[in-house]
Amino acid sequence: MNAWRDEYEQLLFLQDRSIGFKAIVAIHNTRLGPALGGCRIRQYASDKEAVEDALRLARSMTYKSALAGVPYGGGKAVILDSPEAGPREALFRTLGKHIQKLQGQYITGMDLGSTVADMDTVLEETAFVTDVSGSLGAVGDLTAKMTAYGVCLGIQASLKRLFGSESLLHRSVAVQGLGKVGYHLCRYLKDAGARLTVADIDAGRVRMAAKEFGASVARPEHIVSAPCDVLAPCALGGVLDDGAIGRLNCRIVAGAANNQLAEERHGSKLQKRGILYAPDYVINAGGIIVTASELSGGDAAEAKRNVESIYRTLFSIYDLAEAQGIPTSLAADRLAESLFRY
Ligand code: NAD
Repeated sequence: MNAWRDEYEQLLFLQDRSIGFKAIVAIHNTRLGPALGGCRIRQYASDKEAVEDALRLARSMTYKSALAGVPYGGGKAVILDSPEAGPREALFRTLGKHIQKLQGQYITGMDLGSTVADMDTVLEETAFVTDVSGSLGAVGDLTAKMTAYGVCLGIQASLKRLFGSESLLHRSVAVQGLGKVGYHLCRYLKDAGARLTVADIDAGRVRMAAKEFGASVARPEHIVSAPCDVLAPCALGGVLDDGAIGRLNCRIVAGAANNQLAEERHGSKLQKRGILYAPDYVINAGGIIVTASELSGGDAAEAKRNVESIYRTLFSIYDLAEAQGIPTSLAADRLAESLFRY
């Protein structure tokens, strides 16, 4: 763990006891540009857990940005929510003041638990923030839509790799999670002719998807083992553990969820089972690509064109994995590291 931490450029502990503000900013690597990554706000069992979360998330942002081809490094902020925490506005205003002191080394945005309104508060203190009112990502749910678009393209790249054709016509895809990304993904897949099986713990969303897309429905605990060409995890992380990998009934795993592999070694387990895995931080980079387009003054059309690079990047990863006889997850890490390591 300590060796792992050696990789980081900065780890900041921020506190203002007068308003119950406690936050952590982790900056992993800025070789390719300022550290970009959202701010999450949640309760943690301990300060240690919050630090681990910030470190892990900041690191994965470096890898994601490098392979997405955007000029940013990796960073993340977490605000520790607690019964002592003061009013939300005061928390985000204080975070904004600290980000301003970093003079652009870190750019924040929305993440789990934070909202556009929170980012508007941050904006009152610093310009180093995205996902504010009127920004590309905040308008019309574009971030989630472009994430889904990228995942759909990634599924097509994976089909092409395995079957020689990227066509989704009559291909079966099992979608786990019908939230902001999963639901948009179903629409892209259905429009391209795929047959869908869906699951969510929210029965209302399942009913909607069954009706709108003619999707078959699986129970949440069964979706991972549904017989299909492609499993698209679009709910929680850690879904690919020993038990789940043993039960997979698909040829490809390609979905939006972050940190799908419970542990790094599960990439190798998927390889041994002959299942093609689209590394999560590569296939789900649509959101960061939208943010990067926005920061460079681009519009939604440019963002969409940039998301299309995900198809080619996945192909390069599959080529490298095959050439070196390594899991695709490791190939992605190596390719990313070749871009941001000195
Ligand atoms: P969301 O919260 O809108 O949707 C998640 C959905 O999963 C919800 O409908 C929830 O009910 C469902 N769910 C939860 N547990 C489940 C279970 N056990 N079985 C089936 N369904 C379950 O989140 P989102 O924005 O759609 O993101 C989905 C995933 O993609 C997350 O892992 C997120 O980190 C990742 N991601 C999202 C974006 C983005 O642009 N929103 C970008 C990159 C990665």
